[in-house]
Amino acid sequence: MQHFPVFLDLADRMVVIAGCGEFALAKLRLLLKTDAKLTVIATAPEPDLAALIQAEGVTLIQRPARPSDLTGAALAYGAHGTAAEDAAFAAMARAEGVLVNIVDNLEASQFITPAIVDRDPVTVAIGTEGAAPVLARAIKTDLEATLSPGLGALARAGKRFRPHAEALPFGRRRRDFWSEFYFETGPQVLAEVGEELLEHVLHDMLRRHLAAEDPEGRVDLVGAGPGDPELMTQRARRLLDLADVVIHDRLVPEAILELARREALFIAVGKEGFGPSTPQDEINAQMIHHAQSGALVVRLKGGDASIFGRLDEETQALTEAGVDWAVTPGITAASAAAAAIGRSLTQRGRNSDLRILTGHDIQGFADHDWHSLAAPGAVAAIYMGKRAARYWQGRLLMHGADGATPVTLVENASRPDQRIITTTLDRLTADLAQAAPSGPVLTLFGLAPARAAATIPTLLEEFA
Ligand code: SAH
Repeated sequence: MQHFPVFLDLADRMVVIAGCGEFALAKLRLLLKTDAKLTVIATAPEPDLAALIQAEGVTLIQRPARPSDLTGAALAYGAHGTAAEDAAFAAMARAEGVLVNIVDNLEASQFITPAIVDRDPVTVAIGTEGAAPVLARAIKTDLEATLSPGLGALARAGKRFRPHAEALPFGRRRRDFWSEFYFETGPQVLAEVGEELLEHVLHDMLRRHLAAEDPEGRVDLVGAGPGDPELMTQRARRLLDLADVVIHDRLVPEAILELARREALFIAVGKEGFGPSTPQDEINAQMIHHAQSGALVVRLKGGDASIFGRLDEETQALTEAGVDWAVTPGITAASAAAAAIGRSLTQRGRNSDLRILTGHDIQGFADHDWHSLAAPGAVAAIYMGKRAARYWQGRLLMHGADGATPVTLVENASRPDQRIITTTLDRLTADLAQAAPSGPVLTLFGLAPARAAATIPTLLEEFA
């Protein structure tokens, strides 16, 4: 992030715009939305600009800019549209210590003005660091359509009411109050009656919420999917958005944790590589403790919680403690790996069953029905199979599996650093040693890729 987004309070601060034509006019129009004290420096303003300056009572300086024009200014815009004049103005502003923006010239600018969706006081600013203006516009159009025009009215009423709402305890109860206002009662009143009743409704709601009992805590055991945030379910995203406490496996990447509220409490548990793991009892105790204090707890697990995720141990502990819980499924690593190589996990005439195996369990390398796995056409998705590779390779060959059976290892499935390693049962350990994957690996036994690597174009690539 080269450009750090902030919202600048411009009330009574001076902003200087230098230029005579349409660039200066566009900036002036935008800045007139603020309460800044505006000055335009224009030797010969064009008629539209002159008219707006006059109509809005903006200060006009009709001569070339001088350093003293910029003293104390918060921001300066070079909007001449000619390189030489803008460069001279930029140098002057920099010398005066005033942040300067040169229209359509990213390199010469110290800040950029984002694309804006205006539902005052709600303002959405979209920036692409100059990389993709087309993308910024597309996002803006999307948001303009999604954010109802009434949002501004709700936010204004909400802002005025904030001091009253402080009567509710901080945290979930206050959040519940505001979510009801912004997403249920508020829009309904606005649509059916109008803005004037919003304040009355807020007082009514507050009385009701103050009288209500403390809400009970609960635990949602949520599958986060294989790592790509786009592969999460909508419910997973919503629960994460509501969570007071997020207890997550170390396998869950930062890009997903960032979807939770910043104020949420994050607790990392589970294993790191082959390092020490948090004892299950401690994880259970944390979930129970926070839920019993009234928190919404999300227990976030990689992939699907019901596959090698110790789900039953956790739900049993919650049930015994009398804590309410529910499970949200996720996309398991085997599905993501199969998608990456463009293959089906089952296929008519080849395999009518799919084995989901772990390479090692609590006793060490896990034992399986090797005989049936060694049969032609068998397909298995092997989790945690990296370290045990030599073991299961030996077992399968001993039980008569064909050494030429394809084996595909997908490292970091669905993540930006995804890697596909193709090999055969015979060559497995040698190829694995050579590739030396350091991330999580899902092994697909009996499947070769339909194509070398599947790349899904991201939004950015599509718009670039
Ligand atoms: N509940 C998870 C599995 C947890 S066990 C799920 O449903 O996916 C951890 C193992 O899952 C790892 O050792 C690895 O074999 C596999 N795994 C998880 N995420 C993965 C990913 N993004 N790419 C490849 N393998 C992954």
